[in-house]
Amino acid sequence: MPYLAAEDRYQKMNYNYVGDSGLKLPAISLGLWHNFGGVDSLENARKMLQKAFDLGITHFDLANNYGPPAGSAEETMGILLEKDFKPYRDQLIISSKAGYYMWPGPYGNWGSRKYLISSIDQSLSRMGLDYVDIFYHHRPDPDTPLKETIGALKQIQKQGKALYVGISNYNAQQTKKAVEIAENMGIDLLLNQYNYSIFDRWSEKENLLAKLKEMSLGSIIYSPLAQGLLTDKYLDGIPADSRAAKESGFLKKDSITAEKLKKVEKLNQIAADRNQSLSQMALAWVLEQGATSVLVGTSKVEQIIENVGSLNNIRFNNEELAAIEAIMAK
Ligand code: NDP
Repeated sequence: MPYLAAEDRYQKMNYNYVGDSGLKLPAISLGLWHNFGGVDSLENARKMLQKAFDLGITHFDLANNYGPPAGSAEETMGILLEKDFKPYRDQLIISSKAGYYMWPGPYGNWGSRKYLISSIDQSLSRMGLDYVDIFYHHRPDPDTPLKETIGALKQIQKQGKALYVGISNYNAQQTKKAVEIAENMGIDLLLNQYNYSIFDRWSEKENLLAKLKEMSLGSIIYSPLAQGLLTDKYLDGIPADSRAAKESGFLKKDSITAEKLKKVEKLNQIAADRNQSLSQMALAWVLEQGATSVLVGTSKVEQIIENVGSLNNIRFNNEELAAIEAIMAK
């Protein structure tokens, strides 16, 4: 059966301008880091992408190394673009990245021009695309001159292989330097992709979100559910089908501590008082801080439906915010 996207898909989602650019991203974006690799069910991946798009999620986030095996999430995206999404290409924002280990030898990691240019070509080939919408440098490289990395992003953009370019996991100071170099080169960096959640506050210490706004950059936040910890799923043990139980999952069992679960239980109660699930409240909380988009991962269609439901209640009153901070302060 050919896939026909839901006609009402744009009525269910909010879209936010990214920094000072003319591009809008959905408030909720979907990442393909887990559950879309060669080890995963293609049929489930297909159902999730279709449901996401039907609910107005126009942005799918990838990287060269997503899988496992590395590269296979982009292959999955390529298969599903061909099968389902080709007619909708102009309604989609597809991103990829390079910066982590991808292939052996000195040219398959970090931030050299050699690595970034080779990697984008490989990503485009795996996805069967002429261009991605956003291409990121995935993490700062302490050894390659930033000028070379940003120069490679400029080259990729000028060649038409990416419409926009961005950075990921850069702290405030690194972002500032990257923006200055980009300005001198006559290009704009669109956004920074980094982790932030009720549990993960490193970026608050440097006021990153506000600084990105000052620099006219957008912010797309990964792991807003702390990889699934900010849901009720681990309250009664580790379910067999959860990320923490999977060998290829990045959430390690020993990071699910009794102390964190105690907080989860209390947060779960605040969410219930707001008539939301905890995952919905955790996503709403990141949006409340002013993020352009929250980038979730999912393993099931039902999770996508639940997560988009967070948009029914994204405002917090001061008491709720204070109650969350009180739990986190303990
Ligand atoms: P999340 O914090 O959203 O965690 C996703 C996991 O949470 C899912 O796999 C699922 O776990 C669980 N989950 C999601 N929704 C629900 C729900 N409604 N109810 C119960 N459980 C739920 O984000 P990720 O860590 O997956 O990161 C999201 C995306 O961000 C990635 O796919 C990637 O695109 C990007 N990313 C970027 C990085 C970077 O360096 N730039 C680093 C990491 C991620 P389960 O599988 O157990 O069902």
